[in-house]
Amino acid sequence: MSLLEVRQLSKRFGGNIAVDQVSFDLNPGELLALIGPNGAGKSTSFNMVGGQLPASDGSVLLDGKELLGLSSRSIVHQGVGRTFQIAATFASLTVVENVQMALLSHHRRVFSFWRPAAGLYRDEAIQLLGLVNMQDQAERPCSELAYGDVKRVELAMSLAGNPRVLLMDEPTAGMAPAERHALVGLVKQLVVQRRLAVLFTEHSMDVVFAHADRIIVLARGKLIAEGSVEQVRQHPKVQEVYFGSGKTMQTDVSPEVKS
Ligand code: ADP
Ligand code: MG
Repeated sequence: MSLLEVRQLSKRFGGNIAVDQVSFDLNPGELLALIGPNGAGKSTSFNMVGGQLPASDGSVLLDGKELLGLSSRSIVHQGVGRTFQIAATFASLTVVENVQMALLSHHRRVFSFWRPAAGLYRDEAIQLLGLVNMQDQAERPCSELAYGDVKRVELAMSLAGNPRVLLMDEPTAGMAPAERHALVGLVKQLVVQRRLAVLFTEHSMDVVFAHADRIIVLARGKLIAEGSVEQVRQHPKVQEVYFGSGKTMQTDVSPEVKS
């Protein structure tokens, strides 16, 4: 039994089938990339697994337990985290305060801006910032951070829930290539060190090929290929559907990012 088992997952929007009987497994210590052209059904798949969107059909098992039908909040509490997007309202808070907020939320405590206990979960927050190499910037307001650093704070915040599975839909959107490599490389380290199971989407094939343990490919809602970097790189269906037939796959292909 795998940690996460997605089976025949499907989503219909009216007459359109956005995700069509998709099945895959995810295990601890594994960085799994979900790739495919825009509109392939990647985000819809994430949203069904995370409980943001009801599935039309299928099953998502965590340790053999059905997640479909649970609220997104209880799915998080089952151990399936998502990349946290720092809300604009938190930009005035410091880096460490943002992570403390995520810890407070995980422990279901209400955050108060005037609370006397500013030290609540502070040590844990600093520790999480250490994991993403942001401890030196703990006291800076998030509004002052470089974009790549904000992303690392988001990662620390999503680790606050101590997830076993982490879902990251386009975690490097808007980043320059070097930053993309750095962030996904960091995620890969956490996957190895903490035995995390991570599913992520990424537009840059360079980044995917450099860091992913395994790749699954969606096209028009269907899973068309699955395997190691080498297997997927050479898969004829991937060459044809993802990059257009007749072309060889370029490792620096980076389709335009959807706004
Ligand atoms: P990707 O993330 O791979 O780019 P999406 O999962 O966002 O693709 O979209 C897959 C398909 O489902 C697209 O055709 C998109 O237009 C459609 N779709 C996504 N969300 C909705 C929605 N809320 N209502 C109707 N159609 C949707
Ligand atoms: Mg998407």
